[in-house]
Amino acid sequence: MDMTGQYIDISPILRASTAVFPGDTPFERTVNMSFKKGEHLDLSDIKTTLHIGAHTDAPSHYHSDGKTIEERDLSFYFGSCQVIEVKGNPARIMPNDFLDKITAQRILFKTNSFPNPDVWNENFSALSPELIHHLKKNNVILVGIDTPSVDPATDKTLASHKAIYDSDMAILEGIVLTHVTPGMYQLIALPLRIEGADASPVRAILVREKK
Ligand SMILES: [Zn+2]
Repeated sequence: MDMTGQYIDISPILRASTAVFPGDTPFERTVNMSFKKGEHLDLSDIKTTLHIGAHTDAPSHYHSDGKTIEERDLSFYFGSCQVIEVKGNPARIMPNDFLDKITAQRILFKTNSFPNPDVWNENFSALSPELIHHLKKNNVILVGIDTPSVDPATDKTLASHKAIYDSDMAILEGIVLTHVTPGMYQLIALPLRIEGADASPVRAILVREKK
């Protein structure tokens, strides 16, 4: 199967300027060997929060009994997916507008409220527990958003994270949807198998569904 040009990349570039939560560890790549310095290899390492760019939270990030990322079933992270656009930058997205619109097991919300992955802003849209319950009722197993978190930036209650824990859903945060038309896709966004980790960066892509 030739997939060339058939996919849409929804992952921001990872670099030192990639915005992270204030106080979290930014992305840093150190070049240890390089052709430029006359060495026989390019070789580098990275230091970063695991919540960098497009990433998925493990349940252990928001619950003391939660599974860590390598324990999660990968089937959360690939398959049928629906992109829904939300206008008006609500603080928390409520279910009212989507009551009969949920038609896939994975839902990505395009809020356009964190437009530049390199520039932090805290007034981005988040999800509501009510919305999570509504998605669960509609058999959704993964919810994603084009912002750094499913809860508001300054929120400490983590009500949406908790509702997601209770519903055993997966979370995709930090995706870029500015160039994505709402509709049906296949999502692929696999986490790395990092032992004990509270999250993992993913390379998230959408593949258009053939009609
Ligand atoms: Zn996160």
